[in-house]
Amino acid sequence: MRRYFGFIVIIVLVLITFLGKNNSDAQDTEGVKINIFNVSKGEFEKASKISSNKDELRKTLTEEQFHITQEEGTEAPFSGALLKNKETGVYQCVVCQTDLFLSDAKYDSKTGWPSFWEPVAKENVETREDNSLFARRIEVHCPKCGSHLGHVFDDGPAPTGKRFCINSAALTFEATEKNDETQ
Ligand code: FE
Repeated sequence: MRRYFGFIVIIVLVLITFLGKNNSDAQDTEGVKINIFNVSKGEFEKASKISSNKDELRKTLTEEQFHITQEEGTEAPFSGALLKNKETGVYQCVVCQTDLFLSDAKYDSKTGWPSFWEPVAKENVETREDNSLFARRIEVHCPKCGSHLGHVFDDGPAPTGKRFCINSAALTFEATEKNDETQ
């Protein structure tokens, strides 16, 4: 009996350790404080990471927006509504409206996707390695809600040399007055 008791204690300890780790992993993303630059306020502000409810997103996003942001999809080249947009303003995350890119950093990469040479601030995008399609690429995600936005490559223009190749369907565009930008 004593032998079994020791065995059970070990199993319980292993379970506690394992479940405890899972809980802390969940907290690692949900609620974690991050710094994000807010363009309209002109300053960094603290935000909390959120994990979006997929069922809710299926109701609020189009099928394409859901596929691209939640299932790492890619829209067909030259199909995006914002590809040729030349208005002055801010490109935001379609899921959580985090400011991602300024129109000042948009350029025509001829690839068929909206392209930017830098984000609003380095804190306003998150990157992860993507080893699908037999090639190593760097994925770009929203730092707040985790939505998949596109990829970043090293063949962009000066001064950064980066090409943030972003799906139009992952973005919303907020036009700003030119006066606001020059102040
Ligand atoms: Fe987001």
